[in-house]
Parts: sequence; C-alpha cells; structure tokens
Amino acid sequence: MKIGVIGGGQLGRMLALAGTPLGMNFAFLDPAPDACAAPLGEHLRADYGDQDHLRQLADEVDLVTFEFESVPAETVAFLSQFVPVYPSADALRIARDRLFEKSLFRDLGIPTPAFADILSQADLDAAVASIGLPAVLKTRTLGYDGKGQKVLRTAADVVDTFAELGSVPCLLEGFVPFTGEVSLIAVRGRDGETRFYPLVHNTHDSGILRLSVASDAHPLQALAEDYVGRVLDKLDYVGVMAFEFFEVDGGLKANEIAPRVHNSGHWTIEGAECSQFENHLRAVAGLPLGSTAKVGESAMLNFIGEVPDVARTVAIDDCHLHHYGKAFKVGRKVGHATLRCHDMPSLRAKIAEVEALIAG
Ligand code: AMP
Repeated sequence: MKIGVIGGGQLGRMLALAGTPLGMNFAFLDPAPDACAAPLGEHLRADYGDQDHLRQLADEVDLVTFEFESVPAETVAFLSQFVPVYPSADALRIARDRLFEKSLFRDLGIPTPAFADILSQADLDAAVASIGLPAVLKTRTLGYDGKGQKVLRTAADVVDTFAELGSVPCLLEGFVPFTGEVSLIAVRGRDGETRFYPLVHNTHDSGILRLSVASDAHPLQALAEDYVGRVLDKLDYVGVMAFEFFEVDGGLKANEIAPRVHNSGHWTIEGAECSQFENHLRAVAGLPLGSTAKVGESAMLNFIGEVPDVARTVAIDDCHLHHYGKAFKVGRKVGHATLRCHDMPSLRAKIAEVEALIAG
C-alpha cells in the first residue's frame, strides 16, 4: 500500500518509519527542498496548491493523510475527488480554526475557556469588557508553538493588539489558571473502533512543548476519554487525534485538537505497545488497531535547537534517540528522546539526566 502524506517534516518521517515494516511505501508532498521525511519515500517538491502535483500524488497512492492541519481546505477538497483522504476535509476544516473547534466543543457539552470571535479592535474591546482580564488573544488559524497569540494582562496590553496580530480573524479566550496541561491521544478506525492512550502531562517552555510524561491511571482519564470520544464520533473521525486540555478545579477545560499525530504522543514509539504513528496508519488503512497500553513508565523530552551528543545520549540506559535529520536552528524541534523506566522516581531521575545533557 502506498500512502501519500501532505507535509514532509518529522511527523511524516516518523509515519514512514512506522509504516515501512507494515509493507507501506510513502510519497510526501512538501515544497521544502530539505524536507526531512524525503529520504524515507518519494518527495514531490511542490506547493500545496499545485494541482498538477496533487493529481500526480492522487494517481500514485492508495490514500492520502497529512502531518499538519494548516493544509489549505481546497487542497484536501481537490484530492478528495480522486483518492480517499483521512482524516476528512470536514475534520480538518474544524481543527484548523480555533473558533470552529471551540464552538464544536461547546455544542458537545465539553467545557472550554470563555471565548469570543474577534474581527476588529472594537470586537476585542467589547470582548475584553465581558470576558475580563487576563485573557489570551489568538489568531483563529495558523498559530503553533505559541506563535500567533498574546496574553493580555492589563488594559494597556489591549490597545492596538488586533493590528499587532496582523488584523486577521482572532479568538479571545479567558485566561485559565490551570494546574497542569494534559493531552489525550486517541485513534479511531474506519469502522469506528476507538482506542485511547494514557493521558500525558505536558510542560511547555516559551510556548514550545518540552516534556511529556505518560501518566499512570490518571483520575481524569475516563472524563477525557468521554470528551474526546464525543468529538471523534461527531466528526466520524478516522486516524489519530490529539486533544489538549487544561487541568483546572479538578476537571478539564478543552484547549485544542490536532487532527494528526502529535508531539505529545512521541513517547509511544518505545513507550506503548503500538505507537501513535503505527496506529494512525492502521486506522487510515482500515487495518485492526494496535494496543495503546503503556510499556512501563515513559516520558519524552524534546530536543529544541540542537541534538545533544549522540554517544552520551544513547549511553543512558533505555533512552531512545530520535534525530530528525534537520538543520539545527534556535527554537526548532530537531529531535527527541523517549525515556523508559519501571517506576516514576527512576523516570524522574532519568529525565534530569537527559536535561543535564541538553543544558550541557
Ligand atoms: P495553544 O497554541 O492554544 O495550545 O497555546 C499555547 C500555550 O499557551 C498553551 O499550551 C498554554 O500554556 C497557553 N495558553 C493557551 N491558551 C490559554 C488560556 N486560555 N489560558 C491560559 N493559558 C493558555
């Protein structure tokens, strides 16, 4: 089976690494000459709106999936005429726009921060008056890793802020005084079968995910599964979805969904019986899903800007290095490590060991 992937970054690369043993081949559509997934398949180097290349991709592959949600809706609609695309164009349309996703959560009874659609500075002023400060202004589309958003703490922060974010449609959200951030990675097959990985506790640094720790019997697991299941069923979703929540007042508030494999699920490569990457491919290909059970305690540390010394990293027992083969650059995700242990205290010690390497 040949899988077309829109985007050729590290997520595409890890999809190919998981799918190759299943007998799958890959073609990546990505305009970047140095797309890091390219060595693992065919690289169609073209813009996402290039209809000749989209047609070529559709002719060559059995199905198409994508590794980022900012794919233009027209690209997915065009491809869908010729080849199955999973997740669907509808799921993508909702997940790429913060207003649509928050509205869906609200319609499904899933708690969210207070939010308001912002199309002008006047809208912003009115929404701040009703939601109050602090609040977070976010562009509705194209934001990632904390980009395209600003925390508003005082009245002075509100002045001209709509223009500061580019005068594009935005969402204002009430600031959630969360005690933690967790994500639930779920997978749903073509037949509707759904499986969930254990909730993951995430730590960010300057808006970029730094550390994910898979939890053991988290008290909010069942609630998170209920919320995510509602969204998956409503969208008749196929593939892996990541759902990010704020932990607050002993409950959950929905932040956002990613209609794809997700950084907070990278630990599953060695930390779960079947990784998020393999399960995504199983789901879109109509294969039986794999076990989402954890193998011991597990965490993932991102390498941002550079990968630490390879020999010293792999010398750490049960530390699994994933080097994305990307040029090192400040603020760029260039690799990660999965760490495994039998118990949480040893895992914490191992995380500290790798953090010292990163600092070092
Ligand atoms: P996002 O791109 O929406 O995931 O936001 C990036 C990060 O900003 C989140 O992981 C949170 O740490 C923080 N953040 C986003 N929205 C809110 C909010 N409404 N209240 C408090 N913190 C937020």
